[in-house]
Amino acid sequence: MIRLPAFEYLKPRTVSDAVKYMSDRGPDAMLVAGGTDLYPNLKRRQFEPKALVGLRGIRELRGVRASGGGATIGSGTTLTQVATHPAVARRYPALATAAGLVSSPQLRNMGTLGGNVCVDTRCNYYNQTYDWRKAIGFCMKKDGDICLVAPGSSRCWAVSSSDTAPVLWALGATARLVGPGGERTLPVAALFRDDGIEYLAKRPDEILTEIALPPDDGWASVYLKLRRRGSFDFPVLGVAAAVRREGDIVREARIVLGAVASQPREATAAAAALVGQRLTSETITRVAELAAGPSKPLDNTDFTHPYRKKVTRVYVARALARLAGLDAGPSSYEAGA
Ligand SMILES: Cc1cc2nc3c(=O)[nH]c(=O)nc-3n(C[C@H](O)[C@H](O)[C@H](O)COP(=O)(O)OP(=O)(O)OC[C@H]3O[C@@H](n4cnc5c(N)ncnc54)[C@H](O)[C@@H]3O)c2cc1C
Ligand code: SF4
Repeated sequence: MIRLPAFEYLKPRTVSDAVKYMSDRGPDAMLVAGGTDLYPNLKRRQFEPKALVGLRGIRELRGVRASGGGATIGSGTTLTQVATHPAVARRYPALATAAGLVSSPQLRNMGTLGGNVCVDTRCNYYNQTYDWRKAIGFCMKKDGDICLVAPGSSRCWAVSSSDTAPVLWALGATARLVGPGGERTLPVAALFRDDGIEYLAKRPDEILTEIALPPDDGWASVYLKLRRRGSFDFPVLGVAAAVRREGDIVREARIVLGAVASQPREATAAAAALVGQRLTSETITRVAELAAGPSKPLDNTDFTHPYRKKVTRVYVARALARLAGLDAGPSSYEAGA
């Protein structure tokens, strides 16, 4: 059995105490919410903090507040609560779907929205035990110097594997961060960086406190996920699509791909090609082709990367067909489905 290393566990009751603990401990501390990703990573020595600042006891971080057509979701709200909240399901069905497709029921009961947004990037050469990683000489994401996927590269290409991140991006959500320097709000789209190691554009001591969703006025959204096992697996492709229509005509659109790069990737040309159009089969086929352009998976996660690239087009077409009412298939597909 792989054991957790020893660490000091701090239990703040307020966000300001959590900020103070993080600031006092400096780089030796990490935040933990549900711990469903961080604890396995600690067991594999992917992180070696001396202290953990636990967010579970902070009441102000929990809950969904729906008002004026929009909603604010505390970062400590569990994925089960997000997936089953009536206002989320009604106004932002893609978010309810994505939260409900994360891993397994047990992990959704512990795992939080904030932890899902900030979840570590993944790679076949990194999500391994310490001894496994040591046997192949480590890589630059932890303990080593080179990238084993792209040895000539000076950066890490680990994959953004959050189910909710592409959806929140597509819905135009904003994130509130609180740190030693005060608080700031930024679009979820600006929260991610295209780097497998420094994948978040937030300081390590900043706490994501809440996600705000704009009013759903006329928007419809959908999320589709590809994974090997339907019961519990990280996405190897996620497609979040949101459109605002007037009558039959699309007036605004966003398509964001998950698990094909180190950050969610927006298919801007494809979304632009939807504007002013009806969601007909012809439009969907053309737009899905365009949407596959930004999908650039590497050979560092499940399934072959040419396959993941190829099915991007298929999944975008299915997502748009769902929005058009032309397809009522499942939201999660296993290999070959
Ligand atoms: C078997 C298995 C299957 C999984 N399948 C999926 C899957 O299908 N899809 C998926 O998306 N994830 C999956 N996960 C990963 C994980 O369970 C989820 O991403 C979960 O939502 C993480 O939330 P958490 O609260 O447990 O985060 P934690 O593990 O507590 O933290 C994750 C990271 O986020 C940081 N963090 C947490 N909260 C905050 C905050 N408020 N502000 C700033 N930083 C914060 C932590 O410091 C840490 O770096 C899986 C994990 C396992 C073990
Ligand atoms: S992409 Fe390269 S550097 Fe990053 S985790 Fe994988 S092997 Fe390591």
